[in-house]
Amino acid sequence: MRVDVLGVGFDNITMDQAVAEGVRLMDTAGAHYAVTPNPEIVEVCREDEEARQAVCGADLVLADGIGIIYGAKMLGTPLKGRVTGIGFAQGLMGRMAENGKSLYLLGAKPGVAERAAEKLRGQYPGLRIAGTHDGYFQEDGPVIEAIRESGADVVFVCLGAPKQEKWMQKNGGATGARLLVGLGGCLDVFSGEVKRAPEVFQKLGLEWLHRLATNPSRIGRMAKLPLFLVHVAGEKRK
Ligand code: UDP
Repeated sequence: MRVDVLGVGFDNITMDQAVAEGVRLMDTAGAHYAVTPNPEIVEVCREDEEARQAVCGADLVLADGIGIIYGAKMLGTPLKGRVTGIGFAQGLMGRMAENGKSLYLLGAKPGVAERAAEKLRGQYPGLRIAGTHDGYFQEDGPVIEAIRESGADVVFVCLGAPKQEKWMQKNGGATGARLLVGLGGCLDVFSGEVKRAPEVFQKLGLEWLHRLATNPSRIGRMAKLPLFLVHVAGEKRK
């Protein structure tokens, strides 16, 4: 059963359960996709029905961001905990390395996915990188074909939200991969381009604050967080 937070249903699972489910999906015939919405994406979904359907149509909807956890709690339907996109991706790569599965990295500026691939090969010996492609392409066709030809089991789709969710819903099946995961700016982190928040910030659920401090231009996007909490409070009153 999913926990509804302002029109987006979240799977009520722990990180370990999410990774186990991801592994099960990559061993199950057909294409599946996972999304990791934060409050900002929930707000986008309230305005964009196509985005909401792409998010809710996912096989796994993981609560990325402390705001979602607060929101669910305020609504009286608490979630088991946060399942960050980056942590989920790391858990999956660990299991893929053990099982000889292959990964395609799609997204970010030219060169970033290649640098991420190099780093990840070192961090996860045994992980097969099937291919990479930047996220600034005009036509889907050649990209889908490249993924299909690579024979990748899993694709990390890092095009930003809600573009990546719509892309996975529309094109996931045609790529031939079993599991696609929408991961926003993760390739920038895996490549070393962007530093993840120090652990103490992560533990306190303050990664957003670190992101804001290191990249103040995000202030406009982050203004959606208080708006999200206002909407949750309104929903609670209903
Ligand atoms: N991006 C992309 N294609 C686009 C727009 C964005 O590949 O058309 C990439 C961008 O370079 C960045 C990622 O998508 O690597 C989005 O990062 P952001 O930090 O905005 O995502 P978040 O993790 O906050 O969802």
